[in-house]
Amino acid sequence: MWSDTSILAVTAAGAHSEIEDEWGALGPMARFVFITGGVVSSLGKGLASAALGALLQARGFSVRLRKLDPYLNVDPGTMSPFEHGEVFVTDDGAETDLDLGHYERFTGVAARKSDSVSSGRIYSDVLEKERRGDYLGKTIQVIPHVTNEIKDFISIGEDEVDFMLCEIGGTVGDIEGLPFFEAIRQFSQDKPRGECIFMHLTLLPYIAASGELKTKPTQHSVKELRSIGIAPDVLVCRSEGPIPEKEREKLALFCNVRPDSVIAAQDLRSIYEAPLTYHREGLDQAVLDAFQISPAPKPDLSIWEDVADRINNPEGKVRVAIVGKYTQLEDAYKSIAEALTHGGMANRVKVKVEWVDAEIFDSEDPAPHLEGFHAILVPGGFGERGTEGKIKAAQFARERNIPYLGICLGMQMAVIEAARNLADLSDAGSEEFDHEAGKKRFTPVVYHLKEWVQGNHKVERKVGDDKGGTMRLGAYDAILSEGSKVAEVYGTTNIEERHRHRYEVDMKFREALEKKGLIFSGLSPDGRLPEIVEVKDHPWFIGVQFHPELKSKPFEPHPLFKDFVRAAKDVSRLV
Ligand code: GLN
Repeated sequence: MWSDTSILAVTAAGAHSEIEDEWGALGPMARFVFITGGVVSSLGKGLASAALGALLQARGFSVRLRKLDPYLNVDPGTMSPFEHGEVFVTDDGAETDLDLGHYERFTGVAARKSDSVSSGRIYSDVLEKERRGDYLGKTIQVIPHVTNEIKDFISIGEDEVDFMLCEIGGTVGDIEGLPFFEAIRQFSQDKPRGECIFMHLTLLPYIAASGELKTKPTQHSVKELRSIGIAPDVLVCRSEGPIPEKEREKLALFCNVRPDSVIAAQDLRSIYEAPLTYHREGLDQAVLDAFQISPAPKPDLSIWEDVADRINNPEGKVRVAIVGKYTQLEDAYKSIAEALTHGGMANRVKVKVEWVDAEIFDSEDPAPHLEGFHAILVPGGFGERGTEGKIKAAQFARERNIPYLGICLGMQMAVIEAARNLADLSDAGSEEFDHEAGKKRFTPVVYHLKEWVQGNHKVERKVGDDKGGTMRLGAYDAILSEGSKVAEVYGTTNIEERHRHRYEVDMKFREALEKKGLIFSGLSPDGRLPEIVEVKDHPWFIGVQFHPELKSKPFEPHPLFKDFVRAAKDVSRLV
């Protein structure tokens, strides 16, 4: 069943679960779970939401997860990965918060544009309507105009699934979060009784000196929530250890929740243990109880048992270097790290990822930094810094027969490397780094793409366009050459993958590069854009213009990551 079975077969997005009909308890509209956070940020609300989604699926329900972010950026597309972690791109081309990646990895439900919104987006839509005169000259206010816009957003597709899980970013009490809290309060009142519940995630700090878990910050956080009209139904409490009975009762009493709705969320060894652990703590039961769904369908957790077994019992270890720019912040490459873990699970090895800053060997020999790794991955990135180092990493991998996976910028760097060192184009470069156009002479092997085809229509961009949303974004088809390495890896010649880039390898250089062994083995359906390159006589050297990591799941590892880790495992056996 591993990797052939998709959880989607059980609970397809956009469809109600089958149990609904025979059981008849759920109406045509989704039940809503609103997930809020308190005490401190970074408690893992996204993970808890994703795990709850997976558990509801395991009971046969269909789910969709949504994130509402209070910051004022219109979307995370223009935010620095240092600030915000990776930008997660959806099939329909939205640049979203990395929590949507968790949602997809745990539920297999492909996120959409309508699953992520920020205050900035809401305000910009409200202001646009106001300019258009849609409000007929009324005074525009946070209540009701902004809150109505949020409520409209929340209800998109509410007739498609059994449960809609909406996570509110930030913590209760943040000034910018207030319109969202007010909107979900109103929303729950607009709905028939019992169709919305609130789950609140907090922290129980442990005071070592007295050996106690403290409940007071949680009490205050719930008080704050109740002061704006929201009473939590389920409390999820992060803590270092189990919650003693006395503290659980105290929390239930002071926060006005049932004792069995106080869920302990202890630190986990791996995030993929979250569904099983939360289930043991009674999270899904507490949620179904809050909706009075009784008797609750029994869960089938076999997928997650298998996932946990693979993560906890590896039979070997491989070392993979990620040569990038944002190496101080692992969240910047979140999906890549996860996809490598999935590849490891498929091969029953632990993948030890080591982050190597490409700038270190911009002007040095990369060997001392890269020797000893079983595989090298150059991820996506923007801007010139560190690119010479990445080009050297590609050369090192190609010449030493080390498995290489180049993603987006990582593919472009591999092509520049081959152009310079194999095809005698010693001045090969990318227009992305040509800041002094006309002054520095170079051959643009990678050029600024200004026109391409999406489905049946042409997309055009100008150089000076706004930075937000001007890239080639979202899912595009690619056709793979018969007999190529990638066709073998994918097991098909037709694929669809997600993109996020402005620059593209120039087809003009195809012939010269193919003669020297760098094959253009995947192209856009119109044959104009190179999507994949591979080195012919190499154990495993593949560059892809898209982001395969965004579609990998623990129960369905992406074929490229699965085979990349297999190749790394082969290398590890040789040394
Ligand atoms: N900066 C490159 C481009 O825009 C690569 C982008 C990426 O790696 N996502 O084409």
